[in-house]
Amino acid sequence: MEEPTRILFLAAEADPFVKVGGLGDVAGSLPCALASLPSAQDGTDRGIEIRLVLPYHHSVCRDIHPIIRQGEFVIPTRQGDTPVEVHASRMDGVAVYFLRGPWLPPNGPVYSLNASLDMEKFGVFSIASLFLTREWGWAPDILHVNDWHTALAAYALPALRRSLPTLRRTRSVLTLHNLPFMGADCGKLLARFGMSPSRTPALPKWGRRFPLPLGLLKSDRIVAVSPSYAHEILTPEFGCSLENFLQTRQESIQGILNGLDSQRWNPSSDPHLSANFDLDHLQVRRENTCALRRETGLDDDPRIPLLAIISRMDHQKGIDLALNGIRRLKNTPFQLVILGTGNPDLEDDCQRLADEFPAAVRYLRRFDMPLSHRIYAGADMLLMPSRYEPCGLAQMIAMRYGCVPVAREIGGLKDTIVSSGASQTGILFSAGTPEGAAQAIKDAIRIFHRPDAWKRIQRAGMQRDFSWGISARQYAQLYRCLKEGQQ
Ligand code: ADP
Repeated sequence: MEEPTRILFLAAEADPFVKVGGLGDVAGSLPCALASLPSAQDGTDRGIEIRLVLPYHHSVCRDIHPIIRQGEFVIPTRQGDTPVEVHASRMDGVAVYFLRGPWLPPNGPVYSLNASLDMEKFGVFSIASLFLTREWGWAPDILHVNDWHTALAAYALPALRRSLPTLRRTRSVLTLHNLPFMGADCGKLLARFGMSPSRTPALPKWGRRFPLPLGLLKSDRIVAVSPSYAHEILTPEFGCSLENFLQTRQESIQGILNGLDSQRWNPSSDPHLSANFDLDHLQVRRENTCALRRETGLDDDPRIPLLAIISRMDHQKGIDLALNGIRRLKNTPFQLVILGTGNPDLEDDCQRLADEFPAAVRYLRRFDMPLSHRIYAGADMLLMPSRYEPCGLAQMIAMRYGCVPVAREIGGLKDTIVSSGASQTGILFSAGTPEGAAQAIKDAIRIFHRPDAWKRIQRAGMQRDFSWGISARQYAQLYRCLKEGQQ
C-alpha cells in the first residue's frame, strides 16, 4: 500500500483559531478540504496527510478546538539555542500545531503595521517549523508556505536539507495571496541561522534580502490564488518590480482559485442569521435585510437598495474609490453599511461619509465576524472596487448569500464574477476611478429596480459552486507531480 502524500502547511493565520483576512479563511479550510479528498480520486491520488503549523499568537482562540501543550525543543543559532514550545490541536481531521518562544511577542497583534516588527516572529517561526519535522521524525513530501510570513521556510529548505534528514526529499510550494507584502530585511535573521541572503542577479538587489522574493526564488512551484492574478503578476502594473524575475519562473507559476468553506458560509444553516434561506426560499432573505436595517438604525424601505462594504481598510481595496463613487450618486437613493478596520485615514474617510449622509450611511469601525455574516445575508449588493485582488473571498461569500457583487474587473474578481448573459452573477467595471465606481453602482441600482432581473442575478450567484472541490484537487495534483519528480 502506497504512503499518503505528507504536507507540512505553514501559515500566519487560520480560521477559526485566528483570522485577520482571506489568508485565515484559506489556511483554515484548504487543509481540511485536502485531508478529506477521497484517497483514490480518479486513481490519481493516494490520500493526503497534512499538518498545519501556526504561530501561537496571543489572540489564538482556544474555545472551539482545545489546544494542548505538547512539549518543547530548541533550534541552534549562532547566539546559542532558541527554545520553541509546541502546542497541538485538531480541526476536521487535520493536526494543527502552534509554536511560540521568546521570539513571539506575548501580547502583540497578528500583524504589525510595520513588517520589520514582525520579521523576527515570522522568520524564527518559519525556520522552527522545519526543525519541528526532526522532532516528529516525520518527513514531509511537500512544504507548502503562504505569503511572506512563511516564505523563508522555502528559502531555508535547500540549506537545512543537509542537516535535517526529514527534509531530504521535501519539495516546496509557495502560494502567493498578496504580492506587495514582501516582509522586511531578513539579512540579520538569516545570519543567526548560518544562512545568507541571495546574491542572484535574477532578483532585484533589494529583493535579495526580503523573505517573499527569497521564497519565490527557491520554491519549486508558485501558486497565485487565481488564474488572472497568475498573469497579472508578470506585468509592471501588478508585478511590484518582481515582474522580470517572475517571468523567468513563468513555467513554475500557476493559478489556483481559492475556495470557500461551504459549511462555514452556508445561508441555509448559518447560525448568525435572523432567518436561514436557500435558493428555493429566496423571499426569506428579506427578513435578514429588515433585521440588518433595524440593527444599524436605517429606515426599512425595500425600494432603497442596501449597499455594503466588508473589508480591510487598505489602499488595495479601493475604499476611497467606493466612497467617492457614492458621493457622485447625486439624487439616486441608497443606503450603505460599511464594516471594517485598518488604515486610520481610510477609517476616518468612512466616518466622514457617514457624517455627510446621516440617514443613509453607517460605518461600523470594527472586526465583527457574526455581523459580517448578517451583512452578506441582508445587503443587496457588496462593493469591491479593489485596485488589485489576487482572489478575494468576500465576493464569493456575497454571491453565495444572494448579495450581488459590484467589483473591479481584475484578478480573482474577474475569474469568479460573471458580468453578462443569462448566467450573470454581478457587475464588473474596469476603470479604477470614482467615476468608474459610481457608474457601476448606478448600473447595479438600475437592475435592482427590475426585480425579476435582479432575482435572476442573485439566483445565478447562489447556484455557483465556490467550494474547495475543484481547487483542492488541483493542489493535490500539483503535490503529486512534485512528489513524483515531474515538473
Ligand atoms: P483580504 O484577504 O484581502 O482581506 P478577502 O476578500 O480575500 O480579502 O477576505 C476577507 C475576509 O475577511 C472575508 O471573509 C471578509 O468577510 C472578512 N472581513 C474583512 N473585514 C472584516 C470585518 N471588519 N469584520 C469581519 N470580517 C471581515
